[in-house]
Amino acid sequence: MIIHIASAGTLLVDPPHWHLQWPKHHRVQHLMCQCLKKSIPETEPSSSDYSPTEDDIIQNDGEDSEDDGEHSVDGGEDPVSDKKYLVSHAQLMKPFCVCNFAGCGKCVISRPYSSAKGFGLTVKTDCIDGHEFVWTSQPLLNGTMSCNLLVPAAIFLTGNAYGPFSEIYQCLGLESLSTRHCYNIQRVYVLPEVTSVWNLHNEAVMAATGDQVVTESGDGRRDSSGHCATFGTYTMLDINSRLIIAQQTVKVTEVKNSYWLEPVGLERCISKLQDHNVTISILATDCHPAVQKMLREDHKTIKHEFDLWHIVKGVKKRMLQSRNTEWVRMVSNHLWYCVCTCDGDALLLKDKWTSILHHIINVHEWLSAEKMLKCEHEL
Ligand SMILES: [Zn+2]
Ligand SMILES: [Zn+2]
Repeated sequence: MIIHIASAGTLLVDPPHWHLQWPKHHRVQHLMCQCLKKSIPETEPSSSDYSPTEDDIIQNDGEDSEDDGEHSVDGGEDPVSDKKYLVSHAQLMKPFCVCNFAGCGKCVISRPYSSAKGFGLTVKTDCIDGHEFVWTSQPLLNGTMSCNLLVPAAIFLTGNAYGPFSEIYQCLGLESLSTRHCYNIQRVYVLPEVTSVWNLHNEAVMAATGDQVVTESGDGRRDSSGHCATFGTYTMLDINSRLIIAQQTVKVTEVKNSYWLEPVGLERCISKLQDHNVTISILATDCHPAVQKMLREDHKTIKHEFDLWHIVKGVKKRMLQSRNTEWVRMVSNHLWYCVCTCDGDALLLKDKWTSILHHIINVHEWLSAEKMLKCEHEL
């Protein structure tokens, strides 16, 4: 397996056609192509308000057979990278007042028949010479309008929800899929592909870091702030390789309450790494009390350190609460400076940090310290 060393948060996968330098939208487009290739449904439902059951999505029985026989992308264009436009219905119908059959161009005998299919449109005309002309607004993939797969895929793969988009579509009068149809498409055609790439990525990461002693940084994230979170995701970053080497999601129903999402997520990350013989030597986290207790009691071999970013954030927060905002930036910069220049000497760090109290009252030399008796700036 080819191992690519990627920066934090970047997917890392074999096969080699995956390019890590791609910007996000290229990576999303690549995944969309994969979804198209591997998960093409057999037929497309005919009415715009069609809202299939789960079984319809999984086992499309082919009753709507008007597009049967189409088994490739028509037009030959790549449906993902091909440019797309918003077109108003009135403008779109204008070319259909005559027969578009090759070489004909004669009058049509009835109004063009149009039928919306999710984001796509089919137009049919009959001309005086008997031509039945059928036009679709999107390339067909085994009978399915490509946009009906691409839009739900793009929304999911960019980390968005369908709800806000649906609201926009309604305001614009844009024909679209029902919310349920969209979620079904995502669940059946997009999620399996994402899971497959994610598993491939994790295998590659574990192959790169397995049987090693690593220095980790970990933090939890919730789906909403406060005490009403439903999901918590704990993520661990390997400091040396800059790879995310473990990520676990915990649902609030699996634990006592949302306070425990973070420690339980961390515990799962550690046990996953242990399964792959990865030994953690140092772990930096925030100051979550339950995390501290768990590491102190259950994982004594791991040296637990606090992540400076969280400490600085805490200091900033407290200063902002005190409404003394004048010094916030200077004090937080000073804390970063103290930690970066103390060479691991705790006493020196303490003296450097407390020296700010002298400095802000315009005193730059003092006697009440052990290792630092004056400011480091020019006096
Ligand atoms: Zn004709
Ligand atoms: Zn000073």
